[in-house]
Amino acid sequence: MNRSTFLTHQPLYFAIACILIGLCTADAAAQTRARWKSHDVTRPHPPVVTPAAQKSPVPPPSDAIVLFDGTDLSKWCGEDGTDPTWIVEEGAMRPSGKGEDLFSVRPFGDVQLHLEWASPLPARGSSQGRGNSGVFFMGLYEVQILDSFENETYADGQAAALYGQTPPLVNACLPPGEWQTYDIVFRRPRFGPGGACTEPVRLTVFHNGVLVQDSVPLCGGTMWLQPLPYAFHPDKLPLSLQDHGNPVKYRNIWVRELREEAAPGPDRTESEPVIALSAEQLERYVGVYKSSPDAKSSFDIFSDGRQIHCLFGKHSRDLSGRQRGRVDLVPNSPTRFSMRWAAAHVEFTLPEEGPATALSIHVGGGSFTVKRME
Ligand code: MG
Repeated sequence: MNRSTFLTHQPLYFAIACILIGLCTADAAAQTRARWKSHDVTRPHPPVVTPAAQKSPVPPPSDAIVLFDGTDLSKWCGEDGTDPTWIVEEGAMRPSGKGEDLFSVRPFGDVQLHLEWASPLPARGSSQGRGNSGVFFMGLYEVQILDSFENETYADGQAAALYGQTPPLVNACLPPGEWQTYDIVFRRPRFGPGGACTEPVRLTVFHNGVLVQDSVPLCGGTMWLQPLPYAFHPDKLPLSLQDHGNPVKYRNIWVRELREEAAPGPDRTESEPVIALSAEQLERYVGVYKSSPDAKSSFDIFSDGRQIHCLFGKHSRDLSGRQRGRVDLVPNSPTRFSMRWAAAHVEFTLPEEGPATALSIHVGGGSFTVKRME
């Protein structure tokens, strides 16, 4: 193409380029927003990763509750508390093949779980029929166990998938007969006073030391064909292992109960009394406070007319790019202000008239004072 031809058709080329860019952008957006129906065999399979050799069994830490140490099923039962039918031999246990799942006697909520499993050797069957079992938190939320070593199945049903919902990030499965580890952090769903789910289940899973689920939420109970909607249930329920008809072996199972933490944030019930100060009164605290006139860091109090705030640190951004800190101050008295987020408070030195002359910051059992410079 010569230059004059290009210039003649330039608007046309520009329009075509815009359409192509638009199509590519739309396609990329569609991929990032993709929602897959359960068990879609066209859903991309995670890449295979060969895990590094691990030392197992992994001994439990001191605060763990050991559920199976290779000797007996005393911590387990069948459904509804019946005697378990699973078989213990050679330091491991396996399902009887009668389709009877195994339940922990003790119920659990938020936990860290360690378990070791091995799929049958020689391998038999294919897809979901090969080395299928699973660990169900609260009896409802399954992390799939399957022989996914050179065994293709739908991606949301392979080993370490959150069954029917989320495939693992990678396939870190070891060959049949080899002991594999799952290390899982399970956070149970939270329900509001009316029984509605306010926070979904979250699962983090390491398979043979490789991260395969990264704090992934569940849309409900895992189930073949269609997830179960969240329905109110107790805070603790038994853990269960699935008998899917395949003699998957288990050993060395332990859990650590996790403390349930409230989300970080201010305590909405301020422990100290809160008083109202007029915009004019708030102006008395406004100023720049420093430890000495040439100090590079300062505590700058400013008012928005309704409350006062403190900016602290160096004035310009430091080399790490960190910005100045900001603290919201809640008035408890004319001289004492508590911090909205921290268990700390500020005491102002306030003369009978005029602006404050100094402030003391009380935090972590200690305190320091800076004087008003401007
Ligand atoms: Mg299963």
